[in-house]
Amino acid sequence: MKFVLASNNGKKLIEMRDILSELGIEVISLSEAGVSGSPEETGVTFAENALIKADAACAATGMPSIADDSGLVVDALGGAPGVYSARYGGPGLSDEQRYLLLLKNMEGKEQRDARFVSSIACRFPDGTLITAEGVCPGTIMLAPSGSGGFGYDPVFRVEETGRGMAEMTAEEKNAISHRGRALRTFCGKLREHLLEVNDA
Ligand code: IMP
Repeated sequence: MKFVLASNNGKKLIEMRDILSELGIEVISLSEAGVSGSPEETGVTFAENALIKADAACAATGMPSIADDSGLVVDALGGAPGVYSARYGGPGLSDEQRYLLLLKNMEGKEQRDARFVSSIACRFPDGTLITAEGVCPGTIMLAPSGSGGFGYDPVFRVEETGRGMAEMTAEEKNAISHRGRALRTFCGKLREHLLEVNDA
């Protein structure tokens, strides 16, 4: 079974493709499926936005479609940037400008707990929906470090490893990241679903 990956974020797509191919799931991108554009993310939760993207891709392609909506939740900023992570500071900023803005807004804050969250939704043409969520706890660093990953990775220290997310290789990041965790949970649920369908 082939799935469409409902994302236009190039770096996120690479991570999702790598993790899913390790799990034996074959995927194509929206553009490979001949679809351009993306729906407006009007949800107020990661789960709502993931569903909006999965539904739009499934409707446009007629194929089972997997979407991730993700972001960084910072306790000292009341949960910001949260679902607005990709738009933090307004449109047109680079990843670097966004994480520098975050560091500025964190100046003087001693409480630096944060977490990356990934919400996965997979819609099938028959209406079946499978969802999963993954969290990666950590803290906001005082200064950027590392050149791996994307987005806010250079300012995020992973609690589990004590290392900066952007200091890790892609394999190391995928093993502990919110997205890796969410996609592995998703994969377990997908296997159960396929077994049920085959038994019916
Ligand atoms: P989305 O494409 O609307 O889900 O936006 C996700 C945004 O959250 C990205 O543009 C990044 O700013 C941020 N983000 C999500 N996952 C990661 C990650 O793994 N590392 C760093 N930033 C991330």
